[in-house]
Amino acid sequence: CACSCWRRPQGGSGGKRQVTPKSEDFSRWYLDLVREAELADYGPVRGTMVIRPYAYALWEAIQGDLDRRFKEVGVQNAYFPQLIPLSFLQKEAQHVEGFAPELALVTHGGGKELEEPLVVRPTSETIVNHMFAQWVQSYRDLPLLLNQWANVHRWELRTRPFVRTLEFLWQEGHTAHATAEEAAAMARRMVQVYADFATDVAAMPVVVGRKSRLESFAGANKTLTIEAMMGDRRALQAGTSHELGDNFARAFGTRFLDEAGALVSVQQTSWGASTRLIGGVIMTHGDETGLRLPPRLAPIQVVVIPIVKKDADRDAVLSVAEALVAAAVAAGIRVRLDADRERTPGWKFNHWEMKGVPVRIEVGPRDVAEGTCVAARRDRPGREGKTFGVPLESGAFVAHVRGLLDDVQASLLAEATAFRDANIVDVESYAELREAIAAGKWARGWWAGSDEAETQVKEETSATLRCIPFDQPGGGGRCLFSGEPATEVAVFAKSY
Ligand code: AMP
Repeated sequence: CACSCWRRPQGGSGGKRQVTPKSEDFSRWYLDLVREAELADYGPVRGTMVIRPYAYALWEAIQGDLDRRFKEVGVQNAYFPQLIPLSFLQKEAQHVEGFAPELALVTHGGGKELEEPLVVRPTSETIVNHMFAQWVQSYRDLPLLLNQWANVHRWELRTRPFVRTLEFLWQEGHTAHATAEEAAAMARRMVQVYADFATDVAAMPVVVGRKSRLESFAGANKTLTIEAMMGDRRALQAGTSHELGDNFARAFGTRFLDEAGALVSVQQTSWGASTRLIGGVIMTHGDETGLRLPPRLAPIQVVVIPIVKKDADRDAVLSVAEALVAAAVAAGIRVRLDADRERTPGWKFNHWEMKGVPVRIEVGPRDVAEGTCVAARRDRPGREGKTFGVPLESGAFVAHVRGLLDDVQASLLAEATAFRDANIVDVESYAELREAIAAGKWARGWWAGSDEAETQVKEETSATLRCIPFDQPGGGGRCLFSGEPATEVAVFAKSY
């Protein structure tokens, strides 16, 4: 099927796993991988997905790490209802205008038509402000720093598992501050939290910056973003942090008495990252043989595969394999023993490669006799990625495995960073931008363009202004579009 639905291709799924070559059709490759690595399946409603246990474990790892980072900033978790009165969204004009096409409405409940339709939460700024207005009275109540882990619904037209679904899991932070400066600092701090997570944990390098007015969140004064380059060089917006000013506060009357005794609106931020991050990890690191997971996220970091051809060897090999697993567990390494007797070692190698497990340990009778095992790293194919003669002695074994995990983590980041940097082109004119985009790359150049100019670029090239990076060359130049003086560079790319 040529559309981007997620159906299993007809026939041929019996023996060898069917994954379209990445170089041939990236989109098909992605969908095949999502299926073959048992990450997600499609739900009965178009655009919905079932997150399978392996991907849910990835989500838990993402949650665990982000949650810890949020708490370091002093953010507390809470939970707000999923059903929101439609009138709440209508209170903020920009917000409702932006979200109206994506809303799911509940019109009936308990067999009766409701007096007022309820929105199935697409994001929670409105209901949060309804509560904040009751909780905030004085400057002493500020700042208020909350986050919720939840599902949201957005009636998206074009969907893709993880990347864009009708319902997705995310966290949404909502904060209220006494001053605009404090809110701006918070928004900036949280986008940096996303950037740190993406780089240090997901090994996914990002460009951090500010969205253009046209690409900003509906209801925000400013949207900050992390943009990652996928394996097909499309951009993925992997997390956003918004300066909301007092837009929602004014609509909901979220006001406080400041130190001088004046009644003023709070200044707010909101920030979110979703299960899209899983799509980002797949499309950043996946290769022809399947997923490649950064060790810091991998639900299984090491798989131990005993290689037994003769029954007489089984007990000795198994007991060594079990000892290696015990040593790894004791060292806090997430390890799995695959001692299945029905499957061949070759089948198991393929299986765990598809699942992206960073390190594989092979141990057979000869290894046992020599007091060693073989370690294979997922990020380097074939013999090049193998170390022979890794000692079985637990201290030395664990040290070797730890070293490998660190190395895989660093190598995946280095590879993705080199790929990204090789695919960003500095352009000086619109012609050069079009050429770069036509070649599938990102274009970076001086920009002082109007909304109209930005729209024209989008219509003519299908590339959007991804962000105005924080990291600027300094000085100034001529806008690539208008030739007028410009003080900032912007990055354009086709995106998901
Ligand atoms: P927003 O509230 O629109 O800023 O969204 C926060 C983040 O959620 C975005 O930066 C995306 O990474 C992610 N996101 C937005 N829409 C979807 C969707 N339909 N499916 C999955 N993730 C999404």
